[in-house]
Amino acid sequence: MEVMKTLDSNAWEWLAEKPPTQWSKSHFKTHIKCDMLQNNLCESFNNSIKTIRDRPIIRMLEMIRCLLMRMIQWRRDKMSSWPHQICNNIFDHVQQKKLEAYNCTVQWSGGPKYQVDAGKGDQYVVNLDNHTCFCRKWDLSGIPCAHGIAAIHYKGGKAVEDYVHSYYSKDSYMALYNNLIMPINESQLWEKTNQTAIKSPAYTRQPGRPRKDEAKAAARVRRKNAYVRAKAAATAKKTALNASQPNAAETAGIGLRASKRQRK
Ligand SMILES: [Zn+2]
Repeated sequence: MEVMKTLDSNAWEWLAEKPPTQWSKSHFKTHIKCDMLQNNLCESFNNSIKTIRDRPIIRMLEMIRCLLMRMIQWRRDKMSSWPHQICNNIFDHVQQKKLEAYNCTVQWSGGPKYQVDAGKGDQYVVNLDNHTCFCRKWDLSGIPCAHGIAAIHYKGGKAVEDYVHSYYSKDSYMALYNNLIMPINESQLWEKTNQTAIKSPAYTRQPGRPRKDEAKAAARVRRKNAYVRAKAAATAKKTALNASQPNAAETAGIGLRASKRQRK
């Protein structure tokens, strides 16, 4: 914080007003097993419904229901054929940490605690019974860090995957997506109720919200401008023609009448 204060006093004041549990991993609670400072759940959801969010409310909810129905089934299918006991992303993460663990040196004096030297002055105490490491990465995420994996390998007997928190297990994932979103008939076949129909709210444009059809509006303006320019050019050409040949229009009319007579 002192370094930040010298770099940017405004940033320091902004952060100093907030409790460190909101922005510093050193103060995050460890029972949540999530070390993310930010998540993009809202952005992901909004992006997935981008093309349907301007539909009428019932239609929009129906499309979201179908979207979730397909997504849940797809994820359940994909995970059911996964051969490992932990989820695929976590499995890849653990494989990467296993490679890093080769650079660690482990020392043990008995008991559940191990002293792990990762080189470059990094040395931490790992407790295999509590599934913790003093670097706090294991504590926060529930996934063994490289130091933890080095200690697990040193002890032997159990696989690294056995030390990953059950939140990341295939069984937890399958339990999460166990409930089905049932298919339903079309709206004309829905059960009728005596309740008053819900009317859509009056539309009010939110401050600062960009218009969704901004590109279409710009294209309309471009087409209109092109039409005005073309019309002005045609008028100017006609005016110039009349000025140079005063009887041009009359001649053109005679020619038209003559051609009609010939056809008769
Ligand atoms: Zn560690």
